[in-house]
Amino acid sequence: MTSMETQRFNFKAETKQLLDILIHSLYKDREVFLRELLSNASDALNRLRFEMATNRNVLDPGVELKIHIAADKNSRTLTIQDTGIGMTRDEIIENLGVIAQSGARKFLEAAKDKKADFTQVIGRFGVGFYSVFMVAESVRVTSRSFLPQAEAVSWFASGDDSYEISAAEMSERGTRIEIKLKEDAAEFAEEYRIKNVIHKHSDYIGFPIYVGESKEAVNKQTSLWRTPKQEVAEEQYKEFYRQTTLDFEEPLLHIHMSADAPVQFYALLFIPSKAERSIFSLRKDDGLKLYSRNILIDEYNKDLLPEYLRFVQGVADSEDLPLNVSRETVQSSGLMPKLKKALTGQVIRELENLAKNDAEKYGKFWKEFGVYLKQGVATAPADADNIHPLLRFKTNLHPETWSSLEEYVSRMKEGQKEIFYIVGEDPKSALRSPHLDYFHAQGAEVLLLTDPLDSFMLMGLRKYKDFELKNVAQAEVNLSEKQKREAEAEKIPAADFDRLAEQFKKVLGERVTDVRASNRLSQSVARLADADNTTNPELQRVYKFLGKEYEIPKKILELNPSHNILKNLLKLETGSELQTIIIEQIYDSALLVEGLHPDPSSIAPRVQQIIEAALTKRSE
Ligand code: ADP
Ligand code: MG
Repeated sequence: MTSMETQRFNFKAETKQLLDILIHSLYKDREVFLRELLSNASDALNRLRFEMATNRNVLDPGVELKIHIAADKNSRTLTIQDTGIGMTRDEIIENLGVIAQSGARKFLEAAKDKKADFTQVIGRFGVGFYSVFMVAESVRVTSRSFLPQAEAVSWFASGDDSYEISAAEMSERGTRIEIKLKEDAAEFAEEYRIKNVIHKHSDYIGFPIYVGESKEAVNKQTSLWRTPKQEVAEEQYKEFYRQTTLDFEEPLLHIHMSADAPVQFYALLFIPSKAERSIFSLRKDDGLKLYSRNILIDEYNKDLLPEYLRFVQGVADSEDLPLNVSRETVQSSGLMPKLKKALTGQVIRELENLAKNDAEKYGKFWKEFGVYLKQGVATAPADADNIHPLLRFKTNLHPETWSSLEEYVSRMKEGQKEIFYIVGEDPKSALRSPHLDYFHAQGAEVLLLTDPLDSFMLMGLRKYKDFELKNVAQAEVNLSEKQKREAEAEKIPAADFDRLAEQFKKVLGERVTDVRASNRLSQSVARLADADNTTNPELQRVYKFLGKEYEIPKKILELNPSHNILKNLLKLETGSELQTIIIEQIYDSALLVEGLHPDPSSIAPRVQQIIEAALTKRSE
């Protein structure tokens, strides 16, 4: 290598801006700089360990893998030294001076968002090292690479636009970071303060951290998910969640579990408070982090939970997984299905507990993630029975609150053998549906299924306990003798009704398969019913939702023979323009409440015609 006098280099523009922000802002969480430096030391030790496993030629192979911290109150200095992989001259320039421009840019971008303090998660942007400038007047990094012939090198910066590189002396492999603390950061030269930060942020580093003269490591050296639950504070879970997801909103729920049989594992899972990932989130994909004995083997593992639970975040770690395995071996080890079963079961159980113990919080969960569970009912038949108790519904009798199927069943009328539901566009129009006439009259409760996914869900929800689910549009109705007599008295004479029905058929032509009388309508003039052999109405809605080439399904138009509109319609001249547009309108309205109308606004001109006719009539 060339002889080394001190050489001066300029930082790149983004790095300068980043330093400027870090130096001049007063962050309350400045202590995180220590976590970042310790995390870098830990990375360097991990990489060295890897080199030792694959490459015999390592400088100082016998030296303990460790981190040492020394502090001096009088000189206001803090030194952090590791015996990790170290850096050569080129690497130190590359790593501390040049790269991470994109990370710096992203961080600057994120830091503009005043809602969240991004220094808390600065490490996730790949610029963690620079956080030292929150507390440093100047920083000297001295390093000696693990490569046997490497010479020590030193990097020095004092927060201005440039840094210096010079030759250095260092007897051992590794990296030493010497910090001259700012006056207002003198606290970080106190051992108790340093230990306190380690416990808070860096307990889990897998190498011993020694502070001062002590021969005893300060850190626990085990990951949070391997730490027994009762030793973990609520705040630690939150911090862990923040660090791994970059989500600044607290998680809705955390699930910390471990098991020994049938498969050994630890897991720490989180349900976020929002379904949507924050725009700053660096986790761009679903999936759990999969560790084997504390070593990360997959960042986004999608085989540990079923697809419908993909909103769950976190970590799983198993001793039983072979170490240093490729993704393929993990797959074929036969362990994954067992892990998946255990994790899925636990998530569902925890949700049940939440529903039981904190209905309000469960309501929030349902609002954000209910669609996922509905998907689960449709796509995971093996889990469907377990998910059914987690489902929530609005009903005609309780349209404002969420009811479970259990609650529905407990409110069922005596003798009721089915769970009724209605499919519709939205709760309001569902409530107005003619299919409900009969059920309203009976005071029966009906689930309002108005989410596009509800139709999918029904494929996996045929039955709850002993009760089949029944679409009100197809349910049998049982009128009492009295009801029948009353309806009979109001009816249009049969001959007149037939004449009118013929006229409906003439006007609507191909659009309906039949026009007939119904005995189950009371408030409504008409409803659309399915011919027995058509695609079921749920699927029709699925198609419409998916935007598949959608045709209005041909249905039977059922008319209410006691309804005044029909009586008045009979009084109009057969085939007159007004009669025709009213017939058209009755059909369109029926499509509309069904949520099947392909072009609702097309109705407006006709409605205007009808209004005009009505007004003319009045002024006559
Ligand atoms: P990140 O850790 O995300 O890569 P940092 O800004 O924290 O970003 O560190 C930048 C780079 O500097 C690291 O990737 C690493 O190559 C190098 N580095 C920092 N600290 C050390 C260290 N103690 N030992 C060896 N290399 C280090
Ligand atoms: Mg780092």
